[in-house]
Parts: sequence; structure tokens; C-alpha cells
Amino acid sequence: MKLTHPEDFPMAARLAGAARRVRIGQGLDAHRFGPGERVWLCGVEIAHGQGLVGHSDADAGLHALTDAILGAIGAGDIGDHFPPSDPRWKGASSDRFLQHAVQLAQARGASLVNVDVTLICETPRIKPHREAMRARLAELLGLPQDAVSVKATTTEGMGFTGRREGVAAQAVAAVELPV
Ligand code: MG
Repeated sequence: MKLTHPEDFPMAARLAGAARRVRIGQGLDAHRFGPGERVWLCGVEIAHGQGLVGHSDADAGLHALTDAILGAIGAGDIGDHFPPSDPRWKGASSDRFLQHAVQLAQARGASLVNVDVTLICETPRIKPHREAMRARLAELLGLPQDAVSVKATTTEGMGFTGRREGVAAQAVAAVELPV
């Protein structure tokens, strides 16, 4: 068997019967609404009467997921890798944060197993965009779409998301690593 790409190595190790273990990580993020006409959530642009405020594109879903993957491999948090004080990340698409976390995981011989994201907000409505979000995340992560879950909930009018002050997101990621 020819080993060429980083993802070939975990497969070869599995075929050789090498022991693997599954690790999980979790992430949490929130951004407040501000002036604007669109929000980015889970890599999808949604037309909205407001934007989300942040140094980057303020995609709370991608930030939570990036932290979940970093957590699973014990590689710190998104702020360690992309400090908000760094002008390079001003207005940056959060796709690159997520892809960086995936590349770090692959460099450690890890392969993603599945991810699960929950968006917490009263507005915008997530359901019409959910399948587009799953497709975009699957593409960014190199996972089949059935290994990518996006869910949405409200907090029944309570707290900052209930007052429509912003959007929160939490995420879990499972990765498989060599023992
Ligand atoms: Mg954030």
C-alpha cells in the first residue's frame, strides 16, 4: 500500500491492527449582534437585519467547533492559535481557523470521527440553513455528511440569547488517535 497523503496513515495503521483510541473535545462560543445585514454561522452566510460583532467574521459555530477539535487533541484554544490582537485575523473567514485545527489533528495522526454543533439563538432561524451548514462543515472537515450534525435551540426567552442580544454555539468533536 502506498502512503502519500496524511489521511493515508491512519488508514494504514487501522489495517495493520494498530491500537487506536477515541478522544472527545468540546467548545463553546458566543458573539453579540451589531450593525450589519448578514451573519455567518457554521460557514454559511445568512441574510439578517443585523450582523455579529467580532474580530473575525464572528462565526460562533465555527469557533466552537474549532475549539472542540483543539480540545480533543489537547492543543489549547482558538485564541492561542489566532489571537484577537493580531491584525491578520481582522475580518478573517473562520473557515481557516477550523481548517488549521483539522490540519493540527492530522499532523498528530488523528482522524475525525464525528462532530455535533448546537446553535443557541432566538434569531435567525437556523432550520432553513441546517442542511447547507452540514454540507459546508462536511466539506471543511473532510467528513461524510452523516458524521456532521447541526442542531438549533432557543433558551425560551431567557438570558442573552433569549433577549436576542447574540448567538451562542457549543460543539463536540470525536477524533481517533494512535495509542
Ligand atoms: Mg468567537
